[in-house]
Amino acid sequence: MPRLIAALSLTVVALLMSVPASSQVRTAYPDKRGLKLTDFPRTIKLADNVYGYEEIRQPGFTTVSLFVVGSDGVLIADGQGSPEATQQLLDAIAKVTTKPIKWYIVGSDHGDHTAGNSVLPKDITYVVTPFSKTQMKLDAPAMTGDKQVIDLGGIEVQALFLGRAHTGGDLVVYLPRQKILFMSEVFLNRVFPAMRSAYPSEWVGVIDKALKLDIDRFIPGHGFIEEAKASREELVEYQKAMRAVIAEVTRLHKLGLSADDAAKQANWGPYREWFLVEQQGPIAVRKIYEEIEGKLK
Ligand SMILES: [Zn+2]
Repeated sequence: MPRLIAALSLTVVALLMSVPASSQVRTAYPDKRGLKLTDFPRTIKLADNVYGYEEIRQPGFTTVSLFVVGSDGVLIADGQGSPEATQQLLDAIAKVTTKPIKWYIVGSDHGDHTAGNSVLPKDITYVVTPFSKTQMKLDAPAMTGDKQVIDLGGIEVQALFLGRAHTGGDLVVYLPRQKILFMSEVFLNRVFPAMRSAYPSEWVGVIDKALKLDIDRFIPGHGFIEEAKASREELVEYQKAMRAVIAEVTRLHKLGLSADDAAKQANWGPYREWFLVEQQGPIAVRKIYEEIEGKLK
């Protein structure tokens, strides 16, 4: 009898272990992933000294920050959308390390990632593109090239400008040894392409560049942090969504429709299930019209 129980429990263990990681539902909706809003904020260890941080923002999807701990201090890439929310991020960091927070990379200059920055240490060093510096009216020197290497003490972080994407001043954060790329709002995991201040075609090209880097795990700026294999699949899926949206709007533009009519008639296919489609669909139509008509400089 004990042998039977042992055999049964082994079977159970084997069954549990055989559940593939891909069984994780791919969605930006917390409830569809079996999560409650009270599960957030949460810190996810990505590698030694490298952490993702997911917090819920309105209307119910995640904003992701990254933090990296070196022997000389902590680097944050993207904050949260209010002083309270960014303070919670600082509290989460304090649970992991007592090292001082020294660097902040502006992946996205939008308010949902920067509006809490007033609670950051006053002497923090910003890493920011000239474009985002202007957007944020930031009193700090901007990057002079497309790449800045930051040595945190025992761990190297690179801020890379791969081109204009979601904001125009987008930076991605590359950890060459850990093969992790935090993409900020260049990668919206299962969130409908948000284009209010975007450069749609250039954005698709920026994702091509990211996919060619030596990366194991891509971290989004919104939506969920995925395991390594799923993260690449989802980035490819996100790029596919962008291409599909651009193709659909181009089709409607060729029919001679106004942007308003095009927004009403647009068929987003599978991407109609993605978070924010109602709000972001019409915005994407207007932005892609601007690009087609050469009004996007
Ligand atoms: Zn955002």
